Formats: sequence, structure tokens, C-alpha cells
Amino acid sequence: MNKHALLSASSAHRWLVCTPSARLCEGIKGESSVAAEEGTLAHTVAELKLLKQFDKVEKLRIDKEMDEHTDNYVQWARELIDSKKTKAHGIESRISYTDFAPGGFGTCDLWALQDNGLHIADLKYGRTYVETSDNPQLLLYALGVCEKIGHLYDIKTIHMHIYQPRINNIKTSVITSTDLYKWATDVLRPQAEKAYRGIGDIVPGSHCKYCKMAGKCKAQARRLLELMPYTDKDLHTLQGDELRDALDKAAELALWADKLKAYAKTQLEFEGKEVPGYKLHKTAGRRYITDEGTERLEAAGVNPYEKPKLKSVSAIEKEIGKAETSSILDGCIEYGAEITKLMKEKGED
Ligand code: SF4
Repeated sequence: MNKHALLSASSAHRWLVCTPSARLCEGIKGESSVAAEEGTLAHTVAELKLLKQFDKVEKLRIDKEMDEHTDNYVQWARELIDSKKTKAHGIESRISYTDFAPGGFGTCDLWALQDNGLHIADLKYGRTYVETSDNPQLLLYALGVCEKIGHLYDIKTIHMHIYQPRINNIKTSVITSTDLYKWATDVLRPQAEKAYRGIGDIVPGSHCKYCKMAGKCKAQARRLLELMPYTDKDLHTLQGDELRDALDKAAELALWADKLKAYAKTQLEFEGKEVPGYKLHKTAGRRYITDEGTERLEAAGVNPYEKPKLKSVSAIEKEIGKAETSSILDGCIEYGAEITKLMKEKGED
């Protein structure tokens, strides 16, 4: 059984817009990242806690921050599961919506059917703000659960929840099953059909960020490198909307530049291709002193060690939790000069 669907729920925001992307990415190995590994671990911990398999949680190396956030999520989820109003539920269930998207499935963190309708929950451990309304991943889970149990229960309303604890984004949006099926018929089915066949227009956009084609895709490069339609009406400096658009583009360009460099390096290093004007250059790795070298330095009267460095307050909070840190360090934390950081209104980046 395939672990990942071609038309997966988690990548739906991309293949629903850029339909050929699903087939173009097929077979390309995904890069693992610290954030992705952290997200997978948080889901495993939350699932084990929900299933009360605490002995397995103890074997995992998790920091206090993840322990606290998953505890809070589990408490929130338990209220939903254990409510007298809940008639049926599923934890980390494989949900299929193949009647609307060929071979499509995904893993829904939690669903619960209550008197007031179906609840779908998605735990997000990242810091990039995730919108709840019109979220295709949630819509696909909702559709899959309706397909699974709709013949047993009359589901009229669906409550879709995002639980994103690290940026305190815990929100709900509501859709009727009539509107859900209208979307599934009018939008999902035709786009999924194209995506499955690998046809349709290549449409770049902010959804390119985690596409496996990012960095090598011409349409993405064209979009990012095209000049912005500046008006030069009254001012010669960027202001207001133009400044916002430039900032948005700069953030995308910075990510794209890294992917582009990695792609060019792969072409030269592993594919035997040329990139005119570029070559690979090897530099010596970082130098390390051996154990024998350390002894010799000490014998020569040279201290080979640096002064131990104090951990940051956040590192200690991650290790032992916020409550214990503030109790131990009560009155012992000083603040440096205030730092002003530019950030988007929603989320951290
Ligand atoms: S990078 Fe963007 S435009 Fe290119 S295939 Fe992926 S989603 Fe489509």
C-alpha cells in the first residue's frame, strides 16, 4: 500500500491550482527539513498520547515545549472525543476521497461526529500561519469522512479546526455538506482529473514554496523574476501596497534562490551537465584538534577549551518548560535592548 498518494490532501493546495505539478513531482525525492521532522514527531507524540500509550512516548526524545503543546492538544482533542455528544470518532485515520480525486487519500489527525455535525481537526506544529477557511486539506478530510460514514449518519454541518499551538492559531471554520459537495463536484473533481493525467496549465504562485519542482521550474522562475508593475504615480519610493508586495516577493525570492543553487549544484555534481560560467569548488573542511593534540596543547601550557557558554532562556524553557524555568529563575532574568523585528500580521514569517 502506498504511503503517499499522488493526489494527497497535504499537497492539494498546489495540485488544485497547478494541476501538472503532481505528475511533475512524481519520483523526485523530497528534502527532509528540521521543521518537517519536528512536525512528524509532534504528530506521533500526540497520537500516542491520545491512544494513552505513554510508555512509547517516554522512549521518544522530545523537549518540554513539544511535551506541553501536545499535552494541550490532547486535552483539547479529548474534550471532543469524550463528549457525550460524540457518536463516532477516528484518530490518525486514513481517509479516502478517491471518488472525486483518483487514488486520493490522506491521514486525518482527528474527526468526531457530534450532534451538531462533523468535526475535523488538523494539528500543525509549524510557525507559518495556516488558514482554516477554504483550506483544501481540511475540505478533503471532511469529504473523505462524509464518504466513509455519510450512509450511516445525516451530516449537515462540518466544523473544521486548525490547532497550531506554537503561534496560538486555534481556529474553526464551518461549511455545510451541501457546499462541501458542490466544491467537490465543481472544483475538486475536474482539477483532480487533470492533475491525475498530468495536464492543465502550469500555474506558479505562493503554493510553489514546498513543491519538489521549486528551483528548477521555469514557470516559477518567470513569475519570480518578472518586474513588478510599479506605477511611479507621485512618489519615487516604495510605499504601502507596493512595499508590501515587494516584501512578499523578496521572501519568496530568498527561498527560491536556495532551491535554485541546490538544483544547479546537482546538475554539475551528479547529472554531468554544464551550467555555463559556474563550476564546483571544493574547500578544506573545518579543522579539528585530535585528543592527542589536546594533550599536547595542555602540556605546552595552552588551555584548549573555551569558557562554557550560558544557554539562552528559550533553550532552557525548551528543556524544562516555561513554568519551571520562571520558578527557578524568578528575579534572575535581565533583558537586553528591545529588538524590533518586521513580521507578517498573521504568523511568524
Ligand atoms: S514550482 Fe510551482 S509552477 Fe512549478 S510545478 Fe511546482 S507548483 Fe507548478
